[in-house]
Amino acid sequence: MNDGAMQLQGKNLLISGMANERSLASAVARAAHQAGARIIATCQEQRQRERVRALLEDAGEDSLVLQCDVQVPEQLAALQQSLQEQGVRLDGMLHAIAYGRLQDGNGAVIPLLETSSADFSQALQVSAHSLSLLCRSLLPHLNPSASIVALTYAGATQVKSGYNLMGVAKAALEAEIRYLAAELGPQQLRVNGVSAPPVRTVAARHAPGFNERLAAHPERSLLGRSISADEIANCVCFLFSDQSSALNGEIIFADGGAHLRG
Ligand code: NAD
Repeated sequence: MNDGAMQLQGKNLLISGMANERSLASAVARAAHQAGARIIATCQEQRQRERVRALLEDAGEDSLVLQCDVQVPEQLAALQQSLQEQGVRLDGMLHAIAYGRLQDGNGAVIPLLETSSADFSQALQVSAHSLSLLCRSLLPHLNPSASIVALTYAGATQVKSGYNLMGVAKAALEAEIRYLAAELGPQQLRVNGVSAPPVRTVAARHAPGFNERLAAHPERSLLGRSISADEIANCVCFLFSDQSSALNGEIIFADGGAHLRG
């Protein structure tokens, strides 16, 4: 057992957003399991369940995969029902869910001015409101001192070329983190965000300008190098751990300091 294994021993964590092995959520699931946690994963589509189960193969027989598309209220209710039936109590939840239509059918970047109400609503619903919806569904199953963590990006507060609608959604998510932290804090439940740098995942590589941002990151980082998914996962695990008990409503930048550069 390494030092990290002490940190999350005995904790049950719900991890959303595992699409494949490159997903940031998959790195978090690996790191959290290594640190001693039991993983309960949720996936968007039924057909992802087997893949997620395979990704959790090393995470022990007690890991669980449940389906939950956050756009479908019945599935949020079903998630709550499944946790109830299985008698699962949770010590933490990772929100690693994002979607926004950033390009039209021809691959052209959609300027914010041209963004439809439907696309705007969907991006905000999936990428931001889902944090509140998941918190509400999980509330009856959260243990005292549970820690909720959401993944965000510096495009929430800085203009990143092509990130447009997702920047607006991430800004909403970050405000939501603070307001939820205030609402849930008196119950000793914590809500924080980890702002991740560019990492090549399915969601990220579809965002216009991603390749340029990825290539530029080592130079922007004050560490002078890129940051791995495993390093981001370690920051998330710290927020899941009791060592972070004083942190609430914060956005932690796991980007080697890149956001500090003008
Ligand atoms: P990913 O594509 O691996 O994960 C995105 C996940 O969102 C997928 O599992 C997908 O199924 C899920 N999702 C989308 N719509 C959903 C819905 N309606 N219901 C339930 N799940 C839904 O990509 P990722 O980069 O690992 O993204 C995880 C999080 O990290 C996102 O919030 C993303 O914005 C954030 N992030 C990523 C980067 C990066 O460069 N990869 C940087 C900063 C922040």
